[in-house]
Amino acid sequence: GNLKLIQELNRSIILRTIRHYGPISRSEIAKKNKISPTTVTAAVKELICQGLVYEDGVGVSTGGRKPVLVRFSSDSKFIIAVAITNSSIKIAEMNLEAKVRRQKIFPVYNLTGKLVIDYLLKSIGQFLEEYPDLTKCIGISIISPGIIDVDKGIIYENTKLKLKNIPLKEMVEKQFKLKTWLENDANAIALAEKRFGAYRKFKNLIYITISDGVGAGIIVNGSIFRGRRGGAGEVGHTSIDRNGIPCDCGNTGCLENYVSWPAI
Ligand SMILES: [Zn+2]
Repeated sequence: GNLKLIQELNRSIILRTIRHYGPISRSEIAKKNKISPTTVTAAVKELICQGLVYEDGVGVSTGGRKPVLVRFSSDSKFIIAVAITNSSIKIAEMNLEAKVRRQKIFPVYNLTGKLVIDYLLKSIGQFLEEYPDLTKCIGISIISPGIIDVDKGIIYENTKLKLKNIPLKEMVEKQFKLKTWLENDANAIALAEKRFGAYRKFKNLIYITISDGVGAGIIVNGSIFRGRRGGAGEVGHTSIDRNGIPCDCGNTGCLENYVSWPAI
């Protein structure tokens, strides 16, 4: 119960420290986090077994034997990242530091509905064909514009691609036997900016994307604000002209039809 939870927590703190400060010695890790050296040694051993960490060189002696340093192995595992836009599907292999190792772009060719989903699955399959071994693959992370239920992994609605109630997470997991995540693109970008980018110190943030469409990722108090059914950031479908251009969503004069780059 609790003991296991504490061990896991310690392990993730230790991994984060190695990732951030490595190459670093075990005793320094212990000192930085006020965790006992025995705990650090046990956790590091486990992380080495999992291939997430490796020993690399020795540090400066503080009296006794020179300490062995450990460092994060960012290439020990990889993730398949899939970005769906209204015009293309980008698929990339990323290492554990989100560095792109390989990338391929599949144009969508105005496909819509079920045809887009078939094409997406085919494209992922084609990308994965080049991996004889997927044991080091953590999973598939998909981002898409539109209203998305993150927990269920469903695209509720994407008006441009004419997608409605697509259980994409389940479909991808079934076909490729890899754990899959699904998130709205603007939310994912806002989160990335918050965690790794220039906006780390802010608790509240709105990130507006203007590309094939218009969307927003809203962060309130450090976490994504989703709103009812995940539609909080769908600012692109706010009407700015009641007598304006009819939109695929059924409204008229949606912002997206005036400021997205196909419109410009
Ligand atoms: Zn609209």
